[in-house]
Amino acid sequence: MSIQAQNLSFAYPGTGAKVLNDISFILKSSSLGVIMGPNGSGKSTLLKTINRLVAPQSGTIFLDGQDYRNLSRREIAQHCGYMPQKSPAVHCTVFEAVLLGHKALNPERRQAGSGLQEVEKILKLIHLDKLADRFTHQLSGGELQKVVIARALVRRPQILLLDEPTNHLDLVNQLEVMSLLQKITHELKLTTVVVTHDLNSALRFADTFLLLKEGRLHTAGAKNIITPQVIAEVFSLKSVIAEVAGFPVMVPLAPSLP
Ligand code: ADP
Ligand code: MG
Repeated sequence: MSIQAQNLSFAYPGTGAKVLNDISFILKSSSLGVIMGPNGSGKSTLLKTINRLVAPQSGTIFLDGQDYRNLSRREIAQHCGYMPQKSPAVHCTVFEAVLLGHKALNPERRQAGSGLQEVEKILKLIHLDKLADRFTHQLSGGELQKVVIARALVRRPQILLLDEPTNHLDLVNQLEVMSLLQKITHELKLTTVVVTHDLNSALRFADTFLLLKEGRLHTAGAKNIITPQVIAEVFSLKSVIAEVAGFPVMVPLAPSLP
């Protein structure tokens, strides 16, 4: 399902300051997009406008060409699986946690037995099936993050929105989660949008980059838009980009403070 944002602007009520300012972009189906930018640049807010948790004061989003102002909250929620930046911990097994995701928002799915097969399928798909009976507090950070992703996926959304899914993960788990997201995006033909600070994982796995600075879309496009000049402008950081083992890698040199 394609996502086309058109001239989005948003200010939190009562603040007056525009957190999002005239943002337009297109993300295609079967692609992994990343939203990047300094702290406070509007990344989480932009992610929330895609499933209309935040309703822009002007501009709109077209989901497969349909203006989402004409869709109900429930229709939008059915299209979009969402993982917020801070997800509350639930004390239950992996299987139950994912089953809860299946039943959320949908009263018809609450009867006994419904969704069990879907949960099994998703757990297999993301290699969590061996941990199905483990309690969530007995998991490593990487495993827990995969449970949260499984939970967003179990209702079979066409759009997957994840706010900093690799935060707090060690290097191996960061790599594993991003590579998993790339795999499921292509296999399930999802439009995945990930907020991340990990530019090198993004350079390796993402198809599209949306770079925010102070609420404006500074640059958008494929990997080739990521240049030392763009990094200096968006992050105030001097860097070099070199190809290592076939992937572009950004090496920070020094903050280029104004
Ligand atoms: P990011 O995810 O890039 O760090 P956010 O989208 O969370 O940025 O926040 C962008 C700006 O909006 C920040 O200045 C933040 O303080 C402000 N903001 C975020 N949430 C709220 C809110 N609920 N009410 C008022 N201001 C908010
Ligand atoms: Mg954020």
